[in-house]
Amino acid sequence: MSEIPKDHPRYASLMTREKIVEGVELGITSQQGLVAQGRGECFDYLIGEQTTDSALMAEKVAVAMLLLAEHPVLSVNGNAAALVPDSLVRLSEATGALLEVNLFHRTEGRVNRIIEHLKTNGASEVLGSRADARLDLQHSRGIVDSEGIYNADVVLVPLEDGDRCQALVDMGKRVITIDLNPLSRTSRTATVTIVDNVIRAVENMISLSHEMKGLDEAELRTLVEGHDNSHTLSDAVRQMIRKLEELSGL
Ligand code: ATP
Repeated sequence: MSEIPKDHPRYASLMTREKIVEGVELGITSQQGLVAQGRGECFDYLIGEQTTDSALMAEKVAVAMLLLAEHPVLSVNGNAAALVPDSLVRLSEATGALLEVNLFHRTEGRVNRIIEHLKTNGASEVLGSRADARLDLQHSRGIVDSEGIYNADVVLVPLEDGDRCQALVDMGKRVITIDLNPLSRTSRTATVTIVDNVIRAVENMISLSHEMKGLDEAELRTLVEGHDNSHTLSDAVRQMIRKLEELSGL
């Protein structure tokens, strides 16, 4: 990893870039993942590289949904594995959700490397290599585990593709996504969209899981039922417009 001075004004963003590059070098992140990261960075810049109030609210609703779920699954792709492997393991422990590797550009080698990477980061069990069920999608991007995503009632899909998000919603699942682009198909299709960097979002969700474990089921249900995803998305867009006006002096 390159040496980045801690006092560099863009330290956090540059470190994130380094982690993604390292993920490609380790063979866990695809080259397309580099491009996805670039798009995410642009939107992160526009929300001020911090968790907004509405994103924090969405994170709270997402945690309530995971705690209420009977069979929750955290889907892990190459970017998430490079950026937040240890945090995803801790979120799975805090919510009781299973971890499953699920890749857009699937190769058995990459699936197994990500499983090993998550185990090195503390996971005891990671699904994804069995590949014995399918979402209604062509080619390898539809492959899932029958005991994991296929059977899940709630799925967290960070940095997902719009088609797969739609396929999961069409199967009647509640889908939580983390996507810095509030305009993407995934953001508009998911049940709960967290417009935040996956690095900040997953850490926040771990703290929230510990805080919210004491809440009773009715309180968790009230949070979930009161959620309006279109409100979250329009709030993120408004935030970006404000930031653009502020930065450009308009
Ligand atoms: P869609 O099919 O939903 O319209 P897309 O084709 O725009 O998605 P993909 O490349 O499939 O995008 O997915 C990457 C998404 O993840 C992008 O919307 C990007 O903004 C977002 N993203 C990238 N890096 C991060 C990150 N670190 N944290 C959160 N979101 C990110």
